Amino acid sequence: MVTQASPGHPVGVDGAGLIGLAVARQLAQSHRPVLVFEKEASVAQHQSGHNSGVVHAGIYYLPGSAKATLCRRGVDLLSAYCADRGLPWDARGKLVVARDEAETAKLREIGRRAAANGVPGVRWLDAAEIRELEPDITGQAALLSPTTAIADYPAIARSFAGDVTGLGGQVLTGTPVTAVHRRGDDVEVSTPSGTHRLSRLVICAGLQSDLLAAAAGDEAAPEIIPFRGEYLRLRPHARGRVRHLIYPVPDPAYPFLGVHLTPRIDGEADIGPNAVLALAREGYRRRDVSAAQLSRLARSTAFRRLARQNWRAGLREMRGSVSRRAFLAEARTYLPWLGPGDVIPAPAGVRAQAVDPDGSLVDDFRIHRTGPVTTVRNAPSPAATASLAIAERIVAELSLS
Ligand SMILES: Cc1cc2nc3c(=O)[nH]c(=O)nc-3n(C[C@H](O)[C@H](O)[C@H](O)COP(=O)(O)OP(=O)(O)OC[C@H]3O[C@@H](n4cnc5c(N)ncnc54)[C@H](O)[C@@H]3O)c2cc1C
Repeated sequence: MVTQASPGHPVGVDGAGLIGLAVARQLAQSHRPVLVFEKEASVAQHQSGHNSGVVHAGIYYLPGSAKATLCRRGVDLLSAYCADRGLPWDARGKLVVARDEAETAKLREIGRRAAANGVPGVRWLDAAEIRELEPDITGQAALLSPTTAIADYPAIARSFAGDVTGLGGQVLTGTPVTAVHRRGDDVEVSTPSGTHRLSRLVICAGLQSDLLAAAAGDEAAPEIIPFRGEYLRLRPHARGRVRHLIYPVPDPAYPFLGVHLTPRIDGEADIGPNAVLALAREGYRRRDVSAAQLSRLARSTAFRRLARQNWRAGLREMRGSVSRRAFLAEARTYLPWLGPGDVIPAPAGVRAQAVDPDGSLVDDFRIHRTGPVTTVRNAPSPAATASLAIAERIVAELSLS
């Protein structure tokens, strides 16, 4: 079945994670016919449903970057949205804790960025002030970001999907896009249940986005390299020891924020995520290995360069992955009381991290348009926080008449 070619062709969105659904919602609100294709049986089954659940305030990001501007705008939009829909939001605040002199110097730079990004209420704490606020944390200094919040991202995604369908759009779950063809100014996507002619296609396919972009005629680079993020969950007796979100000072060489302690909106509290190379794009368990992904990695110059430049950090993360003792030792540097009896394993997430041909990890959000096809090529954290702002930007740049 081919949908009729007409000026009223719908806009297609590939992927019903937070970004795809936010884009579809924005389109539906401006009365555009919109079709969302999602290969899984329900929304938010990948990154949007397997993350730390944090609404970042925007303290880390390079001022002027897409991450900085879209995170700040995204927080405002998302907090208003959750308030309007009665969705949970807990602004319990976060401490970024420096453990030594070197980290304290890096933390000062983060403080400058937070000020430049207009993050409200950020405050410097010395060791005594840390103890006063969180007696069970050790650190030399900390930044307190009082507006950092936790939210229920799967519930937000379901609510976005409800908005799309309520406004006349369709969210086709269980519908993988299997091929994409450019047809003049239009695009045609194939699914097992039929072919759809679209005026535009926005690919928000997370871990699969580079493959779909290439299928749609875009460049192969940057490639997505999947990094699993593993968590440990605090047992009930240990949950109440810390009230704020507690983060280490991140290594500026990597776009990951380091193993942190995050209370979750359902009352649980998780420690993680680490960042371990996943051998399958949706490889949530260590034993998940895909022959196709292994062969892609073996052929990838970007991956070879990445591995050559980062093998030390890679080995450190793998040690933390195979040994719970090593994982805990890392967390104990700021949570000194943490012992093996305080934790159980928790579900992992897999990050879609874009890597440029020179082997560098793409830090900022990257969105690329070629003809009628726009692809979200890199949308790591804080893209859940920024999802509504990313959608605003994508829709504004679609040049819809
Ligand atoms: C471990 C971890 C922790 C994180 N913590 C945070 C955090 O605390 N705060 C924050 O702001 N961000 C966080 N993030 C980042 C955030 O989760 C992501 O940036 C965000 O969810 C990306 O949304 P998305 O819609 O681009 O991708 P996804 O949620 O991955 O959605 C992509 C969708 O595309 C679908 N799809 C793929 N291929 C096809 C196909 N061929 N046909 C149809 N559908 C297809 C997939 O099934 C999937 O549903 C974290 C990420 C991870 C992995």
